[in-house]
Amino acid sequence: MLNIDLHCHSTVSDGLLTPTQLVEHAAARGVDILALTDHDDVSGLAEARAMAAERNITLINGVEISVDWRGQTLHIVGLGIDPEHPDLACGLSSIRNGRMVRARNIATQLDKIGIHGSFEGASRNAGEGHLLGRMHFARFLVQQGHARDVKAVFKKYLVKGKPGYAPHQWAPLSDAVGWIRASGGRAVIAHPGRYKLSRKAMDELLEEFRALGGEAIEVITGSHTPEQSMQFARHSQRLGLLASRGSDFHGPGESYFDLGRMPALPAICRPVWHDWNEAIQAG
Ligand code: AMP
Ligand code: MN
Ligand code: MN
Ligand code: MN
Repeated sequence: MLNIDLHCHSTVSDGLLTPTQLVEHAAARGVDILALTDHDDVSGLAEARAMAAERNITLINGVEISVDWRGQTLHIVGLGIDPEHPDLACGLSSIRNGRMVRARNIATQLDKIGIHGSFEGASRNAGEGHLLGRMHFARFLVQQGHARDVKAVFKKYLVKGKPGYAPHQWAPLSDAVGWIRASGGRAVIAHPGRYKLSRKAMDELLEEFRALGGEAIEVITGSHTPEQSMQFARHSQRLGLLASRGSDFHGPGESYFDLGRMPALPAICRPVWHDWNEAIQAG
């Protein structure tokens, strides 16, 4: 059986490995098909593709788009997108601009509690010209000794209700799904078990997403307990949505699953890759 991992991050967003290193890591872990899904940015795909060709890995063009739905942040993965499609490129560029504004706001919040220089520190962690995310702030706060690890930083500083949190309006769900579809990709709700939604709101989200042309949900992800995986496997079956599998790997030591090292999709699921080309399915 092919090892398929359709969600991970490189240094282009908030991962620790460059696209080249990430693909080399995937090869060493026996991954056959890999989607690179950086947050709101597709600029790592060309580099990843070059190394994938050398290591005999099938690279799927991906992205993980930050979305606002009823005041909640959701992540929508696009698989098989055309990274050069103007609607997608323009939409992602505007989200990245918004991220710079939010990063300034986060730094202002941290200044208020006596933590200075976080914008510069986070920017150093992100690297020149790269997208800025909370993970870069988290790593800065760990470097400064404010918490033991990034998980602890998020709990203490970077989430709603904590002093380093800055509210932010991301793209509307309909826009993100629209850009993905316009560029020829398939839209997938990332780690649905992570959102704090009632059963009713989750049903409404899934219905709305499907009505917009969304096609899949992540069933296997580093964010789900085994129970949540089964719960979303049943949701996908009930609603005729396809199921995806992705580690959400960010780097050695920072993620729950290593690349490719997660359970298989439950048998009741129809894989998001079910109609990808014959060579892929034959495995
Ligand atoms: P952003 O898109 O900049 O708001 O950052 C979201 C990213 O922060 C996620 O993709 C994760 O990489 C990371 N993250 C969010 N919440 C946590 C958490 N509780 N623990 C560790 N990392 C987190
Ligand atoms: Mn991330
Ligand atoms: Mn995510
Ligand atoms: Mn992710």
